[in-house]
Amino acid sequence: MSDSILVIGGGIAGINCALNAARYGTKVYLMDDTPSIGGMMARLDKTFPTNDCSICIEAPQMYEVDNESNIEILTNTEVRKVKKTAAGFEVRLIKKAKFIDEEKCTGCGACIEACPVSIPDEMDGKIGGTRKLIYMAFPQAVPNKAVLDPECRYGRMRENGSCVGGCVVDCSQCRECPIALCVKACQKEGKDAVRLWQANQNLNIDVKSIVVASGILSAEPPDGLYGYNQYANVITNLQFERLMNAGGPTAGQIIRPSDQKHAKKIGWIQCAGRGLTKGVPYCSKVCCMIAAKQVIITKEHDSSVETTIFYNDLKAYGKGFWGFYQKAVENGVRYVRARPYDAFEDPETRNIKIRYEDLDTGNLAEEEFEMLVLSTGLIASDRNERLAKVLNIELDELGFFREKSPMLAPLETNVEGIYLCGGATGPIDISESVVQACAASMKAILTA
Ligand SMILES: Cc1cc2nc3c(=O)[nH]c(=O)nc-3n(C[C@H](O)[C@H](O)[C@H](O)COP(=O)(O)OP(=O)(O)OC[C@H]3O[C@@H](n4cnc5c(N)ncnc54)[C@H](O)[C@@H]3O)c2cc1C
Repeated sequence: MSDSILVIGGGIAGINCALNAARYGTKVYLMDDTPSIGGMMARLDKTFPTNDCSICIEAPQMYEVDNESNIEILTNTEVRKVKKTAAGFEVRLIKKAKFIDEEKCTGCGACIEACPVSIPDEMDGKIGGTRKLIYMAFPQAVPNKAVLDPECRYGRMRENGSCVGGCVVDCSQCRECPIALCVKACQKEGKDAVRLWQANQNLNIDVKSIVVASGILSAEPPDGLYGYNQYANVITNLQFERLMNAGGPTAGQIIRPSDQKHAKKIGWIQCAGRGLTKGVPYCSKVCCMIAAKQVIITKEHDSSVETTIFYNDLKAYGKGFWGFYQKAVENGVRYVRARPYDAFEDPETRNIKIRYEDLDTGNLAEEEFEMLVLSTGLIASDRNERLAKVLNIELDELGFFREKSPMLAPLETNVEGIYLCGGATGPIDISESVVQACAASMKAILTA
């Protein structure tokens, strides 16, 4: 029997699961289908309930994973096939090409500087961040290597100026590119690491157990919900998190997408979309604390900003969470128990007016904000369905992986030897994810 385990998903849960197992001497394959490990936490500014800097906590763990001889990191990698055997699992992985020789790339960034084409950065959504066609997922990415957008490689970006000259050859057929600016810049550094012709690679591994740590996504509000995707100054709480972040598109300035002015009056709508046909039908547990965190940090940036949270129920379930809510109140946030039912934009100021029913008085009211933040909740990874099919494990009705028995067999699935942790099990915060990750890794390494 192989003594290795496979961890699917390199967010904070996958990272802790891998580190814990590796410290017990187990060989771990830690895979993620994006170019870097880190998951959602790498996008956050600070974390409740302590308001420690998110990446300052996570990056040292990411580097530890990178330097741990028992862990092999496989990024840009998907699970294609899994066969259960008497000895464990035979797994076929596909490592999608990054069009970079990772042995040669030192992450110097010369190729990124040379690339003339910027496109919207998926880290930031509509609040304006951009990245180059050849890029690093984020500054602390692990592995700290460049990755090239496949769009560029197939020549589709030539019209945008990604390469000079009029070559018509398909990049996948050509091994000596004389025109791509990133190739030239890399060669100038004496590295020659850009590989436009690189193909996907199949990898076969044998493992005794598997841990699924595929995490969560921030729910995208339906178009038009309180003016989302209609009015520039209506954004989600994840986009607000990127605005607050010194590593984000505005270098931490809390400014309005419409005119780049500092927002002086900001409203949060909790449970935005909940109960609507296209909204999240359940409570995501963490949004109340995310909003409390965001108002505390906003006030730290500028204490004169007026902050109001519209909510209908308050969830402060974890250790230190009630104190954290009180800290938000002491910092001057106004909590209004209300049901907002309409939002519209003043075309001159681009401010957002909302209409709501005050749930304490029953009165209808209207109020104007310079920016509106929608707390939309956490949903399951959009890749869970595929993964569940390949692993032959069950999803629950919300798209998260189903535990065999939360009371009697927590973190176990209907397939012996496959375990769960973190957001793969449902909406969850970071500390709970880490606790589950350590528990799942023990189950995985003790699988006989
Ligand atoms: C706006 C916002 C603010 C938040 N603030 C806080 C906070 O302050 N404090 C706090 O405690 N929590 C906070 N959270 C919650 C926190 O982000 C989660 O608890 C945490 O990220 C869960 O970690 P995870 O590793 O389970 O999942 P993730 O961080 O989502 O990582 C999952 C990883 O798995 C990968 N993956 C997914 N599917 C596959 C697949 N099929 N194959 C391979 N890889 C896959 C993904 O690419 C990702 O890297 C916040 C969440 C949001 C949205």
